[in-house]
Amino acid sequence: MKNNRQVRVRKNLHVYYFRSAKAGIKNIFITETYRSQERQNYLYAQGRTRPGQIVTSTLNSNHKSRLACDIAVGPPQSLYDVVALN
Ligand SMILES: [Zn+2]
Repeated sequence: MKNNRQVRVRKNLHVYYFRSAKAGIKNIFITETYRSQERQNYLYAQGRTRPGQIVTSTLNSNHKSRLACDIAVGPPQSLYDVVALN
């Protein structure tokens, strides 16, 4: 069951895609949407207790509430988690 904020995020994403396509930007893709707390903990550890670049500043990301998604424009340059795309 989606709440109003989740519906709004989804709607805004559709508008974003539509406007981007209209502007000739077609190589857009979503790299990550929902995250479990375990996944957020894993990302938070990166650059802190695990090697790598810091990729998040919080343990309470909007990704956990399905209110955030990460968008990239191709061709992929150096996405922080290319493994997630495979
Ligand atoms: Zn994000």
